[in-house]
Amino acid sequence: MDSYDLAVIGAGPTGLFAAYYAGFRGLSMAVIDSLPEPGGQVTAMYPEKMIYDVGGFPAVRGRDLVDGLVAQAEPWRPGYLLGRKAEKLENVGDGVELTLDGGEVLRAGAVLITAGIGEFTPRPLPAGDGWLGRGMVHFVPSLAAHAGQHVVVVGGGDSAFDWCLALHPVAASVTLVHRRARFRAAESIVRQVRELGVRLVTDAEVTSFVAAPGGELTAVDVEVKGGEKEQLRADAVVAALGFTADLGPIESWGLEIDHRAISVDSTMATARPRVYAAGDVAAYPGKVKLIATGFGEAATAVNNIAVALNPEAHLFPGHSSNAE
Ligand SMILES: Cc1cc2nc3c(=O)[nH]c(=O)nc-3n(C[C@H](O)[C@H](O)[C@H](O)COP(=O)(O)OP(=O)(O)OC[C@H]3O[C@@H](n4cnc5c(N)ncnc54)[C@H](O)[C@@H]3O)c2cc1C
Repeated sequence: MDSYDLAVIGAGPTGLFAAYYAGFRGLSMAVIDSLPEPGGQVTAMYPEKMIYDVGGFPAVRGRDLVDGLVAQAEPWRPGYLLGRKAEKLENVGDGVELTLDGGEVLRAGAVLITAGIGEFTPRPLPAGDGWLGRGMVHFVPSLAAHAGQHVVVVGGGDSAFDWCLALHPVAASVTLVHRRARFRAAESIVRQVRELGVRLVTDAEVTSFVAAPGGELTAVDVEVKGGEKEQLRADAVVAALGFTADLGPIESWGLEIDHRAISVDSTMATARPRVYAAGDVAAYPGKVKLIATGFGEAATAVNNIAVALNPEAHLFPGHSSNAE
């Protein structure tokens, strides 16, 4: 059984910063996330948007903030368990045991839950059943992977339009397909996408994916309201239909849950020994759910965890500017 000082559940901004901080405190750590990529809400919902309220960055693109957080934690070699869901938590001895989907069990001295608004499940595109990873993606980890491709983006919300903006400079063509005539996305971003000349096919649904003899995606069939059919060239489909978020198994861990968040004290400790929470998932009076808040809470949680694991350790970590 793998054993760590700290298991962090959630690789969003809070969990990634906690991983850095755990390393800074000399703790070994695993970082578990059900998404295949780190970055939580930022990666899943707005990687191309600029963020203006993170200290030290007058403006930072979501993707770049996540890359920076991963790079900041990297020297401490976090054990990333991505695409894995934390399902069960038990207090065993003076530590915890965490069971992941698939049955793998991790042992840790403490667990820090940074699960945000919960596990994201992409809303499915029925016609794309069986195509995930074979031409269809729900979000785009690397724009370069789509260089020179014909890309069809499905959806009418902000993220669908964000992907159009981001992919337009690198792809051979970008076409957006949306099943209604009206979009949920902000008018300003719809205008930008229209101005780029991206084709918007509305009142239309993707009905099937078309494979070449070798099995690779070449096109999608689209049916417009009224019965008109069209085939669109597609090397890739971005199914940006949004995500549902759910705390799922965490709600059954015997923690005090308040409005889909976990109640914590001023050390970020929950009602269960050796179990802490920080970031969007942590609740206390006056809580403000922001990236900046999550960073502060991660530092508070990890420094208190360091003392819980070793009562002789100082709560104050010393200044990182004094570290070699
Ligand atoms: C469109 C949009 C724009 C935003 N703009 C800003 C902004 O400008 N400034 C700002 O400060 N904030 C902004 N926010 C809010 C900000 O993104 C969140 O406050 C921040 O992401 C919270 O970080 P987190 O790490 O606590 O949680 P999250 O980012 O939600 O990450 C939690 C992670 O935990 C994982 N997880 C959950 N349950 C499990 C489980 N059981 N097992 C494994 N993994 C699990 C999830 O998959 C997820 O990756 C914005 C949010 C949205 C949606």
